[in-house]
Amino acid sequence: MKVVVVGGGVIGLSVAWRLAPAHDVTLVDPAPARGASWVAGGMLAPVTEAWPGEEDLLDLGTESLDRWPAFAAELGLELYTKGTIAAAVDGADAGQLDVLAEFLAARGRAVDRLGGRELRRVEPAIGPGVRSGLLVPGDLALDNRELLRRLDFPGVVRASARAVRPGAVELDGSTLGCDVVVIAAGAWSGALHPALASAVRPVKGEILRLRRRPNALPPPVHTVRGLVESRPVYLVPRAGDELVVGATQYEAGFDDEVTVGGVRDLLMYAERVVPGIAEYGLTECAAGLRAGSRDNLPLVGWLEPGVLVATGHHRNGLLLAPITADAVRAIVAGDPSSIPAADPARLTRRTTSS
Ligand SMILES: Cc1cc2nc3c(=O)[nH]c(=O)nc-3n(C[C@H](O)[C@H](O)[C@H](O)COP(=O)(O)OP(=O)(O)OC[C@H]3O[C@@H](n4cnc5c(N)ncnc54)[C@H](O)[C@@H]3O)c2cc1C
Repeated sequence: MKVVVVGGGVIGLSVAWRLAPAHDVTLVDPAPARGASWVAGGMLAPVTEAWPGEEDLLDLGTESLDRWPAFAAELGLELYTKGTIAAAVDGADAGQLDVLAEFLAARGRAVDRLGGRELRRVEPAIGPGVRSGLLVPGDLALDNRELLRRLDFPGVVRASARAVRPGAVELDGSTLGCDVVVIAAGAWSGALHPALASAVRPVKGEILRLRRRPNALPPPVHTVRGLVESRPVYLVPRAGDELVVGATQYEAGFDDEVTVGGVRDLLMYAERVVPGIAEYGLTECAAGLRAGSRDNLPLVGWLEPGVLVATGHHRNGLLLAPITADAVRAIVAGDPSSIPAADPARLTRRTTSS
């Protein structure tokens, strides 16, 4: 089949890569391998992202996490396997981690609860202000920019799609004909099809990259997810003594400018959890737009015959890339219910019938 994938972030690139062996695939994007995927933190962390009420997301994330080692091996990509530490600063933060631990235990995923001193024995970078935490060995992490380089797709048309309809993608002044269109334009997907107009929205996130300087303390070995007076912050180690610190979360439309307040908050909270970062260099501040959906689950499936959607991955697009790419391949091959929880009909039915 002739397939056009609109959007070349991690989702569009993974889908194109999975479909390419069996289909004639074109990818359309004015700036591929950028978007939220370039900005992201790189955690593959369904367990520490989990929260009561989001059971489907936990199950989907866990299933995709299980596929990551094989997916990464196919791409020759290294995964960080040291796991995650969730760290609580005050009593209320510790209470939130208790809720998470109980929720996980009830789902058969017991995690180790540790006091502050035990946490520092496991992860010496954690500061004395942290009172307790959880050790979550199964979570993974990766370098998202290296992932995008490895997913690099040769058949890219550098253009912006104006609209999508069955059998055609409209560009400025030309039309690409095809059998199947896959809308994978992240936060911008809502503009491409009427069924998506109110189903997907941009959710802004700011993130920092730090680098250890000579004589500064070493970065953490684990991914550290802190709760500081109820404000979440995470620190993800990278090769070369780099540390990614994220992330703010705002509903701010398509504003993607980094703010002073966002950078200040991230540094303030991160330093409470890992004090050694005060001696690090600040090498990058960036903002990206996550594709939010109303129930935080992605939309993967048919919008109408010939038009597929794969978006709405919100905070978990890297994590969910393997399961999304496999699902799109299966759907194109005729399996309509590869990820039932992600069926777009749940969010688009009302819009399309009104
Ligand atoms: C600060 C931050 C931290 C994050 N951390 C993590 C994390 O640790 N783990 C995780 O799993 N997820 C994380 N996420 C979420 C993750 O980045 C997203 O879910 C994921 O990148 C979504 O990928 P995507 O391909 O759908 O969208 P994007 O990466 O945004 O790509 C969309 C692409 O569509 C293109 N496009 C837009 N409009 C058009 C058009 N009209 N025609 C053609 N192309 C178009 C854009 O140019 C872009 O390349 C984070 C996000 C942010 C912002």
